[in-house]
Amino acid sequence: MTPPTHIINEHKRADTKHDTTIKEDCTYYGGAGGIGQAAAKVFAAKGARVVLVDRDEDALKSVVSSLGDDIASYVVADITHPEQVEGYVAAAVERWGGIDIFLANAGIEGSISSIPDCPIDVFDQVMAVNVRGVWLGLKYVIPVMTERGGGSIVITSSTAGIGGSAGISPYVTSKHAVIGMMRSAALECAPLGIRVNTVNPAPIETRMMRSLEEMRVAAADNSEITVERIKQATASLIPLLRYGYPEEVANMMLFLASDESSFCTGGVYMVDGGRSAGSP
Ligand code: NAD
Repeated sequence: MTPPTHIINEHKRADTKHDTTIKEDCTYYGGAGGIGQAAAKVFAAKGARVVLVDRDEDALKSVVSSLGDDIASYVVADITHPEQVEGYVAAAVERWGGIDIFLANAGIEGSISSIPDCPIDVFDQVMAVNVRGVWLGLKYVIPVMTERGGGSIVITSSTAGIGGSAGISPYVTSKHAVIGMMRSAALECAPLGIRVNTVNPAPIETRMMRSLEEMRVAAADNSEITVERIKQATASLIPLLRYGYPEEVANMMLFLASDESSFCTGGVYMVDGGRSAGSP
């Protein structure tokens, strides 16, 4: 086992040292998805040792083999089950001796429909992954981080966490909920030396947006509405007139995990091409 480097040591020097290099251990879930993969690469390039957690084992294997098993490992887990969350936390501690950085990033989009038409099980499933899964992660990670003397937790919310969006009410509800969760956790964790923030992306080029675009085309039931047209219409609402790239979200996660953000906790950090400022 590699001896751990405690992030608290870095905190003590934070007023004189500003460095986005991550020397501490890092673990997160959602590792096999678009943003999770990008984060794994960005963090590993800065020296983090990572444990990726996802329910998709093939994707996990491919990310870990691209990073190398000397710095990366994976745990297959469904984050809605408490015992599996305890399991991945224990696996990270066993592999690296502790957890200094935790990216609570896994999420699902649900389906597209109005509230009256939305199946109740879609609402329950979205809340289970996007809210319960994040809360369970905090529940089991905070004690381990506290033992290390502190750390940084970054929860992936969304522009859908600060504003409404017709047709995806369970998703919007869940992404607002994690902001409240983050604020409560930030208050509880400040005395423990643990900072907690959310990163809030606008549409990003990953599987999730492809899925939402395809669902919107299907819901429109009009042959003139294509995925490309939906994408153009969505991008036209973003002042920078494009979707973001997963690496652009990963770079904000890196900032929030590093000592560059040593005075930042309880905050909502937009990575949205200006979308929250308004539309062009
Ligand atoms: P993605 O679908 O590529 O990745 C999500 C990952 O979560 C997948 O690998 C999936 O297997 C995993 N996952 C889902 N349910 C799980 C469960 N029960 N247990 C374990 N793993 C599970 O999507 P992404 O775009 O990389 O999304 C990452 C995060 O960013 C999500 O929380 C999403 O809501 C958020 N987000 C995405 C966008 C976007 O436009 N892509 C915008 C704002 C916020």
